[in-house]
Amino acid sequence: MMELIFEKSMSGRRGVDAGTPKNNIKLGVKFSRTEDSKLPELSELDVVRHFTKLSRKNFSVDTHFYPLGSCTMKYNPKVNEVAAALPGFAGLHPITGQLMPEAAQGALEVVYEISSQLCEITGMAGFTTQPYAGAHGELTGIFIIAAYHKAKGNKKKYIICPEAAHGTNPASAAMGGYEVISIPVDAEGEMDLDLFKAKMTNEVAGVMMTMPNTVGIFHKRVIKIIEIAHKFDALMYYDGANLNAILGKVRPGDIGFDVMHVNLHKTFSTPHGGGGPGSGMVGVGKNLLEFLPSPCVRKNVEGKFFQCTNENSIGPVASFYGNFGVLLKAYTYILMLGREGIIDATEMAVLNANYVMAKLKEYYYLPYDRSCMHECTFSARNQVKNGVHALDIAKALIDRGIHPPTIYFPLVVEEAIMIEPTETESRETLDEFIAAMIDIAKLASTAPEKIKSSPNTTEISRPDETKAAKEVKTICEQ
Ligand SMILES: *Cc1c(COP(=O)(O)O)cnc(C)c1O
Repeated sequence: MMELIFEKSMSGRRGVDAGTPKNNIKLGVKFSRTEDSKLPELSELDVVRHFTKLSRKNFSVDTHFYPLGSCTMKYNPKVNEVAAALPGFAGLHPITGQLMPEAAQGALEVVYEISSQLCEITGMAGFTTQPYAGAHGELTGIFIIAAYHKAKGNKKKYIICPEAAHGTNPASAAMGGYEVISIPVDAEGEMDLDLFKAKMTNEVAGVMMTMPNTVGIFHKRVIKIIEIAHKFDALMYYDGANLNAILGKVRPGDIGFDVMHVNLHKTFSTPHGGGGPGSGMVGVGKNLLEFLPSPCVRKNVEGKFFQCTNENSIGPVASFYGNFGVLLKAYTYILMLGREGIIDATEMAVLNANYVMAKLKEYYYLPYDRSCMHECTFSARNQVKNGVHALDIAKALIDRGIHPPTIYFPLVVEEAIMIEPTETESRETLDEFIAAMIDIAKLASTAPEKIKSSPNTTEISRPDETKAAKEVKTICEQ
């Protein structure tokens, strides 16, 4: 087991010598420590080795196949980082856009252009770059829906979410002050249309749909659902976290969605997963433009960009333009792929998911046996008969050098295993994954204890996950 950096500490060992300050600056007593800080004492080499070793124990897209369903862990091209680090962008103070727009034309242009690109991709009329993540975008969208109904004097109380919705959907609706009506899925994995109709009233403010949904299925009856919702003046919200499945194929705005968010960190390639900076840009149709958060960016007749405010804005939901670095990465990625590249990405993502599904359905139970979009959801139901659960299968994959897929989500599938390979993986990598999954399925029936004891190649095999998150040190001492 690896020692903690504190355990490696040797009294008096140094990495750098900060020297003695020349002008002995005196801090007030209330700012001074009463005892020495407990920093580890190590040489530079000790520190380098410690963190390099730690980093090698990690899983990342750069080191391992990472088919985490619903998360779109595609490869993030390094050129994105180069763009985000350009000194002209990275060093610009965010208020320059307001106070000295002539000195921030490039940055304002990026905000303007990424919004236009997303309008083109989604069919919406305008976007805000502010929200920091998908869930933040959902809350922003709910505020916009509420502002719309308030302006019209509509009395609304409910938001409808299909049962297969991502957990953040009902949570955002509730945070925005609405009561949530959850509609079960039918035998095909879609929102049950009859139950939906029965719940639709004048008190429904909006309907939130994830498309394709969390079992990787595109609702065939979505046009009907939108028609019904609009009859009651309920707005349609599109959770765009799964946009990677439909780029260049369907535009949510064209089929009648009113509000949507796009997870730039998923579909448009920013490293994510460790809680790093993200972006959940929100787009709206023409009738909702006035409610978008401010500031916004417009272009005047001379082609100069300037900061503006929306007429009946819900106000800012973040400072300035949100996570600007993430906008730059997405902008670079979209320009690099171009129209054809973006369509190609979606086609490959869907093909890869269907390939995995077709190869594995003989070994794992497939609850919705129809062609999928960019991800496929299995159930470990067959393996449970031998005492092997989805969790055990996930752990066994770690031993085989693969990041586990999403498990136990969506909730509508018992023992769910949700696989999203993404377009950036080669046929060879998919075949390795398929072989590992088949190997696990076979062992699950012949030697289930081998799967149940996984992982065997890691520092710790199966920590109590809650305890590991809350009491890091105690777990490491065990
Ligand atoms: C990831 C995801 C979200 C939430 O997005 P964050 O950026 O993680 O806040 C919402 N809905 C679906 C379907 C998702 O996959």
